[in-house]
Amino acid sequence: MKMILGCHVNFTNEQLLGSVKQALSYGANAFMFYTGAPQNTIRKPLDSHLTEEAMQLMKENKISTKHVICHAPYIINLANNKDLEKWQFSIQFLKQELKRCKELNVEYIVVHPGSAVGLEKNVALQNISDALNFIIEPDSPMILLETMAGKGSECGCTLEELKQIVNQVHSKNIGVCIDTCHLNDAGYNISDFDAFLEKFDQLIGIENIHCVHLNDSKNPLGAHKDRHENIGLGSIGFQSLYQVLTCPKLKDVPKILETPYIERAYPPYKLEILSLQQGKFNPNLVEDVKNDYKKFL
Ligand code: FE
Ligand code: FE
Ligand code: ZN
Repeated sequence: MKMILGCHVNFTNEQLLGSVKQALSYGANAFMFYTGAPQNTIRKPLDSHLTEEAMQLMKENKISTKHVICHAPYIINLANNKDLEKWQFSIQFLKQELKRCKELNVEYIVVHPGSAVGLEKNVALQNISDALNFIIEPDSPMILLETMAGKGSECGCTLEELKQIVNQVHSKNIGVCIDTCHLNDAGYNISDFDAFLEKFDQLIGIENIHCVHLNDSKNPLGAHKDRHENIGLGSIGFQSLYQVLTCPKLKDVPKILETPYIERAYPPYKLEILSLQQGKFNPNLVEDVKNDYKKFL
């Protein structure tokens, strides 16, 4: 079975070209990037030559632009408009980000719905839809709202909340990204993934899922924590994650790893992708990743 599997990669001086190179070095055929640091909104101008080279390299390696995902910085908050200036900044920034995506030929951008911080949930959800209606244009890339873990006052940690937001957005350029760690922490047991998908289908429609974040979780079901763990080493476990990866109903949807670096230093993606492609849990992942990098020292 052909898997569309990749991971989060960097976007540095070589911009998208560097991202593609990094993805290829991990054996990925899909990837996700931030257009700058995830925790701030400082962005450099895009270099069209680097974008062209990136497109060429993707073509040579049969990576479809449909399998390249942008992630918006997580500090923007569409849910709270108590500080109107901040809310408007988030809206303007996302508009710019959509333009950058278009320039990069990227069709999907993942956005965290936002946090209510002091507002009533229903008001916060309406703010998100309102903001999205300002942001999305008929020819925009599609915004994918991510399922959240329910940390603090996060919106979008239940399918009902996501449905409420999506229903109020007038454009068709809106979809969903499901994150397995977040679903687990929000209380959705994905060990029976078919049952989950059925529920999703009834509420939102399975055709609206355009990205999967494939992560294990450091915390038990329903913990509302959001701490990602390496594949197979957390509370979700390898088999459940493999089931999500190979689910026939989502076979054309890219699966993106956002698992933590080993000891904050060594990217685990090459070996995680390998073990998932082989369908074989690697209980020695931590040691193997470290040894793999030490070979090059
Ligand atoms: Fe995210
Ligand atoms: Fe995620
Ligand atoms: Zn997360």
